[in-house]
Amino acid sequence: MHGVIKTVLLASLLWFVSMPMPAVVHALTAADDTPQVTLAGAACHYHVRAGDLAEALGLSRQVDKHRTLKELGIGTRDLETALKSVAIGETEPRRAMHRGAGRGLGGGAGRGYGAAGQNGTQGHQERQVVRDAYCYLLWPVLLGGMLWWLLRGGRFEDGRLLPVTKRYAPLAGRATLLLVVLFFGFASGKSPNPMEALVKYFKALAGFYEGAWKYFGVLMFFTLLSIVGNKLICGWGCPLGALQELLYDLPLVRRRNRLRLPFRWTMLLRTLLFGGFLVFTFGLFGRKWVLYHGINPFNLFGFEFDLLSIGAVVVAVLLLAPAVYRPFCQLVCPFGWYAWFFEKASLTGIRIDHDRCIGCGACDRACPVEAAGDRLSGKSWPAECYSCARCLRVCPVDAIDYGPRWRQKSEPSGE
Ligand code: SF4
Ligand code: SF4
Repeated sequence: MHGVIKTVLLASLLWFVSMPMPAVVHALTAADDTPQVTLAGAACHYHVRAGDLAEALGLSRQVDKHRTLKELGIGTRDLETALKSVAIGETEPRRAMHRGAGRGLGGGAGRGYGAAGQNGTQGHQERQVVRDAYCYLLWPVLLGGMLWWLLRGGRFEDGRLLPVTKRYAPLAGRATLLLVVLFFGFASGKSPNPMEALVKYFKALAGFYEGAWKYFGVLMFFTLLSIVGNKLICGWGCPLGALQELLYDLPLVRRRNRLRLPFRWTMLLRTLLFGGFLVFTFGLFGRKWVLYHGINPFNLFGFEFDLLSIGAVVVAVLLLAPAVYRPFCQLVCPFGWYAWFFEKASLTGIRIDHDRCIGCGACDRACPVEAAGDRLSGKSWPAECYSCARCLRVCPVDAIDYGPRWRQKSEPSGE
């Protein structure tokens, strides 16, 4: 019975994320009262740098970006033209994205904004495209390596099972996380990232961009990386997740003072946020805007703090992370929320051999979330697991491992 419910829920979610939204959504975009938004808000909305947009509008890059377009004397057509100018010289996918943005404002002729600005923007966009390509190529390689480490590399040496104290050397894990922060974060900039993939897909459905299927493809890329190993992209590939992991590992807060958040509340909060995101993105109450733009800490990696709220969220995440495991992932991130629904379908993950387990609770105490405890008690929909390997290091009787889900270990006796 449980199997049927899970299958129906998973199928519904897949249908929901892939359904083509009706054309009426496009019509809603045309009603945008653009001059009322701030320059920073418009830049965030259309995924361009506020400085580039200011320059394209013939303003100084240092202009107060919290003034509304109306105050700055910018009309809808000016904005549309500037957005097209920012897009000049981009490779096809990005150009299409901005064409979509322009159309959302009603279409019209374009005018340039100065060769220097265009060249600067073009160079920046070209570098970003190259960085994106490297990221999409290197993520599967990195996560393939981490999957091997979780399945065998952290557990066996020369074909022999390592003693518990030597399994899953924390230093190897931290070195990988640091690399992820440096390469997929600071070297690559704010994007691509799993959260953006989900957000952009729904933005495309809402008419912000053209070609929703392209964004669907990117979302499926991250979904697959989440399924091949239980939330593997969150656990080991996302730069923001990796940064929070590293901060949590710093001995700044005593272990007993750390806060473990109840999963049902974190899920509820993220569900509400995602619901709000859908309502505002599709403009169900008037002007369309993207809720996550103002609270997106991935901006840290591009040093883009166009909105005060972004800076505040970054500071809050950095301050909370040593005491609360992955505060942004657990409380806000829509991809973390979405990926939980796919945990049941993940090919590999934590397995507990209940015949061997002596019920000491060491894995539950080592786990920073409720995932190990829920798996221990045999919950059918356990809390989210980030494949962090902490529980794998502590079992005194080797009753827990990371392995293929289709070869499950024994069920708990109470079930
Ligand atoms: S849940 Fe965390 S790790 Fe996963 S995409 Fe979001 S920020 Fe990154
Ligand atoms: S410690 Fe918890 S989150 Fe980490 S792998 Fe184990 S069950 Fe998953």
